[in-house]
Amino acid sequence: MYARNLPAELQSPTVALAERLDAACLFTTLGFEEPVVEVQRRSAASRPVVYVARRPAGPGGTRGDEMEPATATANPNVHSAASRGSGMQVDAVVLDIDGVLVDVGDSYRRAILESVDRVCGKPIDPAAVQAFKNAGGFNNDWELTDAAALFVLARREGLRMDIDEFTDRVRELGGGLDAAKEVVGDLPRVAQARVRDQWDRDALRETFQALYLGSELYRELEGGEPLIETDGYIHDEPTLVDPETITDLTARFDVGVLTGRPAVEADIALERVGFDVPDDRRFTMDDWEEGKPHPRALVELAERVDADRVAFAGDTLDDVRTARNADETDATRVYYGIGVLTGGLTGEAGREKFAASGADAVVEDVNELVELLE
Ligand SMILES: [Mg+2]
Repeated sequence: MYARNLPAELQSPTVALAERLDAACLFTTLGFEEPVVEVQRRSAASRPVVYVARRPAGPGGTRGDEMEPATATANPNVHSAASRGSGMQVDAVVLDIDGVLVDVGDSYRRAILESVDRVCGKPIDPAAVQAFKNAGGFNNDWELTDAAALFVLARREGLRMDIDEFTDRVRELGGGLDAAKEVVGDLPRVAQARVRDQWDRDALRETFQALYLGSELYRELEGGEPLIETDGYIHDEPTLVDPETITDLTARFDVGVLTGRPAVEADIALERVGFDVPDDRRFTMDDWEEGKPHPRALVELAERVDADRVAFAGDTLDDVRTARNADETDATRVYYGIGVLTGGLTGEAGREKFAASGADAVVEDVNELVELLE
């Protein structure tokens, strides 16, 4: 028996019917509902998650009433319902910084748009930033800036794609800057060469850092003279997290941060929100090569605090994918991906995108974690 979007009240009767017929029973639930009957979770990596309430009797099958939890070695993707618990009984919480603890709409994202405009002489639509983020592989905002500039220059040299078509292709090719370069590879050779000549990554990065850090911090952190004299957008990053939330979460859980920011910029944001995170509980751009959605940093943080169940909350699809990837890679722990709607993804459309990427839950803001993780 297979039931799609099976509501909670029909799960027990459905399993009972399967038992009478001695049939296997599999189902999916609506949205993020956890099953109310005993199940095995068959697919942790994709949505919808298929729950196995009962396997058929006979050779190779297991009776529903004596169903054993799948062992980690047999199938790392399967966690028994018992091990997941009824809710998300986590013992560690890992938080993304941008779009979760601080609002970067008027800082990082603004710096991306303005750097492209200044260096390439043409503005891009603010929605383009989110389109790149959704394509995946753009956890590093310098690389996103490079890709957006590449799009502008390639258009100028004859690429016939709008931003949605371009970022769709980037996603299909695996995401990130390499995929963006590959899309531009569709242009004739001469046009490609012209794009390459105009693509000044150093100028883009220096402009970005000057705008973002402002002159004073630029001299201190980057060394040398900034291209532009400004106050810096980093000083305009509104806090998204209440002090009580930090107090509550750190009292109940081991809390770490995982961010694509360079370490010094992570310090500034954490100081701004009043969050004192020990060095061994943070992963920044300077601590690892791979970047999200690679699972290594999340798994390592979980190891360091000796956690069994880890919730990772972030504002992009790559954050949720990071949790999914960790869940697949690390058979000894359970990882939950939680989407936060205070970054580029908002409202109902944001919820749907998170759900489609395999989020275990979606919250309006990081402060909702206090209740969600009770
Ligand atoms: Mg973020």
